[in-house]
Amino acid sequence: MSKSIAVFNQKGGVGKTTTVINLSACLASLGKRVLMIDIDPQGNTTSGIGLDKNSLKYTIYDVLINNISPRECVEATTHEGLYIIPASVQLAGAEIELTSLKGRELKLRECITEIKEDYDYIFVDCPPSLGLLSVNALSAVDSVLIPIQCEYYALEGVSQLMRTYTLVKKSLNKELEIEGVVMSMFDGRTNLSIQVVEEVKKYFKGKVYRTMIPRNVRLAEAPSHGLSILGYDPKSKGAEAYLELAEEFIDLSEEAI
Ligand code: ADP
Ligand code: MG
Repeated sequence: MSKSIAVFNQKGGVGKTTTVINLSACLASLGKRVLMIDIDPQGNTTSGIGLDKNSLKYTIYDVLINNISPRECVEATTHEGLYIIPASVQLAGAEIELTSLKGRELKLRECITEIKEDYDYIFVDCPPSLGLLSVNALSAVDSVLIPIQCEYYALEGVSQLMRTYTLVKKSLNKELEIEGVVMSMFDGRTNLSIQVVEEVKKYFKGKVYRTMIPRNVRLAEAPSHGLSILGYDPKSKGAEAYLELAEEFIDLSEEAI
């Protein structure tokens, strides 16, 4: 059984990439086979897991636009069981190039269908927009995981995000579900963080993970070393939190099957 999940929130800086890299690495450390697909032209997942964006043979752009087989584009990482289809800045053009293609919303779905059974979990790291790349992600996956940052305007933009989700679910991907909502950069010492969590729980009834990701400087440092938090500082609070999230994630996602 294999599951694909888009990590989606059109707001930038909420912890999408950090969650894709570290949740994937933790799942791999628990024995799962995990593929990350980077569809953000900024390529932060690609560089954050240690790949050089300027010396890639193939990227997700080649899958979407040049019809290269996705299996040829998969790169191994330094973590056992963790793989990636990388992105480079070339992908920025894909949003426009896709527009003229037949089945332009479903290109990523074709890609995932081809390789799905090779992995237990496939995570798609979305760009911070609601454009064609994000629509491709939502059309391709079984579920969406939404990271929300514990900040004053946390719910700003969420209704827009949910409109896009609902639209895709109605038209392109009827099976699409919400996998869960993860609170990121949580600080239990502040009333603000606690209030934000309450508000988000009210909005996403029953979908918010018990595990919250604390603000932890080691999480912010790890990508500049090309490592997940498990490779960089496995004893940190950030590593502890993502491991706990991975366990909760497995329990909930496998329970649903
Ligand atoms: P997004 O992909 O949604 O734009 P990122 O995962 O890149 O967000 O996170 C934005 C910034 O915040 C990055 O510099 C990242 O290292 C940092 N960051 C993310 N999560 C945490 C955290 N829990 N604690 C500290 N810094 C974090
Ligand atoms: Mg990102």
